[in-house]
This record gives sequence, C-alpha cells and structure tokens, in this order.
Amino acid sequence: MPTGVATGINGSKDPTVLVELAIGDAYGAGFEYAEASFVAAHNTLTGYVEHPFHHGLRPGCYTDDTQMSIAIAELLVSADPWTPENLAERFVAAFRRDERVGYSRGFYELLRSVSSGVELLARVDPRSSRSGAAMRAGPIGVLPEVAEVLAYAAIQARITHDTDAGIQAAQAAALAAHYCYHHLGPRSAVARWVDEELRRAGGRGGWAEPFSGSVGAEGWMSVRAALTALGSCPSLSTLLRTCVAYTGDVDTVATIALAAASTSSEVHHDLPAVLWNGLEDGTYGRSYLRRLEHRLFSRYPAAS
Ligand SMILES: [Mg+2]
Repeated sequence: MPTGVATGINGSKDPTVLVELAIGDAYGAGFEYAEASFVAAHNTLTGYVEHPFHHGLRPGCYTDDTQMSIAIAELLVSADPWTPENLAERFVAAFRRDERVGYSRGFYELLRSVSSGVELLARVDPRSSRSGAAMRAGPIGVLPEVAEVLAYAAIQARITHDTDAGIQAAQAAALAAHYCYHHLGPRSAVARWVDEELRRAGGRGGWAEPFSGSVGAEGWMSVRAALTALGSCPSLSTLLRTCVAYTGDVDTVATIALAAASTSSEVHHDLPAVLWNGLEDGTYGRSYLRRLEHRLFSRYPAAS
C-alpha cells in the first residue's frame, strides 16, 4: 500500500502518535547538523537518508528523542505514579534494554554507567536548558487537562532540565500535542494558544513568534521551530520537509512537530509509505510503537 498505509490509519478513528514522531526523528536524524547544501539536495522524503558523517546512525532508526518518548509513554500507561524516581527508572530501562546513539555525549556516558533510576537522579547534573526535556514531552499531550499537562511536563523536565527555559520548552511541546489531540482549535492558532497558556501559568512567552534560521541546541529553538512549521503546513509531508529544511537539530524539531500534528484532524496524513515501512521494526520498533500508542489512546481518549 503506497501512501494509503498512513492515510488509512489516520483517516480512520485510529490515530498514531509514537510511530509518526519516530518517523520524524528517524528521518530528521539523517540531517542533524548537516550542511545546508546536503539538506537541500536530499530532503525529498524519498527514503531515510544516511547521515553524511555520523556513521553510527542507521537509516530508518530512531534516536534518543523517540527512546525517551517511549519511556514517557510507558509510564503514562502504567499504574505507577508520575514521580522523578519512576521517570528516571523508565529512562534508564529504555536505554539499557536497547542502547542507541543520539544522546548528548555526557548523558550517554551517564546512562551507560548507571544501573537504576535512583542512581541516575543522584548523578545527573539537571541544569540544562537544551531540548532534551521537550523532545520527549509529546506523549504527555494526551492527558485531559492543561494543568496536568503542565505539571507532568515540568516534573519530567526537572530530572535533566531543571531551568525555566528547559521546563517551559517541555511544557510548550506537550501543550502543542495536547491542543491537537483534544481538538482545541484550528491548527494555524496552535502557537498562539501555547503562548497564552504558558503566559497564564507565569511563563515568559514568545512561543508565537515565527522561527527562522538554523536550529541550535536550546530547547526554545526546537519548540518554536516546530510550532512555526505546524502553523504553516497542512500535511505531514510538507511539515516533515519544513522541519528538516531549517537545518541544525532537526530530528528534534521533527519529533516535536510530528508528535502534535499526527493527531490533528486538520493535517493531511500523507507520509510516503517508504518512510512508514522503512522505520525500524525490531523489538522496540514500529510494531512496538503501535501497540504502545494504542494503550496510550485507550487510557487517555481524545475529547470529542
Ligand atoms: Mg535525536
């Protein structure tokens, strides 16, 4: 089935979120911090691209963004409470059972050297303002209330990104997913809504300002780039190409944008079948993501 695979799934009442954010991550990973000329030449959606210099990244394999989103989703569907200890335990478990690249060097070494969430919490330096807490926040959007989304996003962010900038970037990413999943308004207004909600919660705002240029490592950059693209792209294919065309940390931009857009009823689901079918499908690959997102959606149904 050519593009019908994704279209059929999303055209029905059977949305996806984890698979599509993983496709965004895996596709974007081939272009992360690559030269603009490489991006311009290969950002065609005709397949997963081999990264020009990170040879540890295999085309079609997702990275840290998806692995940590899986950990978040697994805790959401479990009976365990939303605590730093349980979150850290899930982060460590997801990495240890399926070690992969893409994490920042320091965090990768830390994950390799700890054997429990408690140990991670004891040893991590949580003062980052980069995008790590935002890239994994998408699944939190399924929660039914804005206040819960803000609280859950902040609790998970503080484990590694205990700064105003790191926390608010995570909250903004989760709110964007929440807005789309629960059909709170037109797609074109998502950035404005996120901005209003975060200002109301005491945040600094600025989320509705259009982003342009290359995306650096700071959390606000990936999120604002994703929000800008979400507002202007009517289909997943244009969205994914637009996210990657920024250049820079584009796997994270694409992960955040697709986590939201994948559940929007206003976005045309037209990702090429080559990306759907080419996504890794090992133990924690596409089929696992499908099963996990089914559990997520049945536990937290969308507002009708
Ligand atoms: Mg990544």
